Amino acid sequence: MDGGSASRPLRVLVDMDGVLADFEGALLRGFSAAFPGEPRVELEQRRGFLAVEQYRSLREDLGVKVASVYESPGFFLGLDPIPGAMEAMQEMIQMPNTEVFICTSPIRKYEYCVQEKYIWVQKHLGPKFVERIILTRDKTVVSADLLFDDKDAVKGVEPNPSWEHILFSCCHNKHLKLQPPRRRLESWTDDWRAILESKRSK
Ligand SMILES: [Mg+2]
Repeated sequence: MDGGSASRPLRVLVDMDGVLADFEGALLRGFSAAFPGEPRVELEQRRGFLAVEQYRSLREDLGVKVASVYESPGFFLGLDPIPGAMEAMQEMIQMPNTEVFICTSPIRKYEYCVQEKYIWVQKHLGPKFVERIILTRDKTVVSADLLFDDKDAVKGVEPNPSWEHILFSCCHNKHLKLQPPRRRLESWTDDWRAILESKRSK
């Protein structure tokens, strides 16, 4: 017995694209550079989790074109950190009684994405976070108390995931009205610490 708190650690999963790394900003820049004459979807106009579907709805062939941007070598490595995210992660990993993991779903064309995600984490967050990367196409089977994710509906084989999904605001989900008790984190300058505290076992 350590004589300290008997409560188990709070386990937090943090998504990568759209939460730690600015996927949408880089995608728009990359698309505009590669296809300057084509119509594009400005960030204020983004709707729906998958950019490829919105581009395809503009014109069928634009889906393949926008996908070619994020399937290219260097795309995931070149993503900018989301403002405040690196600082929040460094603070979170230092918090007592807290276990933080990066939980990310690589794209299906994984050749560059997977390796570049690892290098990105090493570069922006350091080796201790490389040890905390969980790559999965199904986050519902990962057990935790919280999942910060910009995808509006995180689904998988487990109908009742152990985590509470906190929707992280991103251009494509800002307009969505969440049904209580669902919660959102607007940005990393918003009070993420209060969300963690609200989940700690008393
Ligand atoms: Mg994401």
